[in-house]
Amino acid sequence: MARIGLVAHDDKKDELVAWVLANRETLAAHDLWGTGTTGGRVIEGTGLSVTCLKSGPLGGDAQLGAMIAEGRLDVLIFFQDPLTALPHDVDVKALNRLATLYDTLFAINRATADAVLAAL
Ligand code: PGA
Repeated sequence: MARIGLVAHDDKKDELVAWVLANRETLAAHDLWGTGTTGGRVIEGTGLSVTCLKSGPLGGDAQLGAMIAEGRLDVLIFFQDPLTALPHDVDVKALNRLATLYDTLFAINRATADAVLAAL
């Protein structure tokens, strides 16, 4: 069982929920974590159980980063919006940085999420 973090920026939340729904059976076997709003949307849209952290802009991205640094997260699925400026850009950068630093299985869009899931 892998510990999987789920995050999506606002314009990418529908896409992430659709991806989770399409992979519901596989993901049900794993331990799912999410930033507050994303996690809530996934629970609502798929019925899967997700442990919700704080909302991303309020520290949820930082919490996922801390989980990576402490060896408590195996996979990060983070659908990022490259077209919108975000107030919590520093947290987004920190999460990207930690996932890279700790060699975390890390997907930034649907294509890489498919590849990561196939690798699990
Ligand atoms: P959210 O956070 O799931 O609480 O919206 C995601 C983000 O970091 O933008």
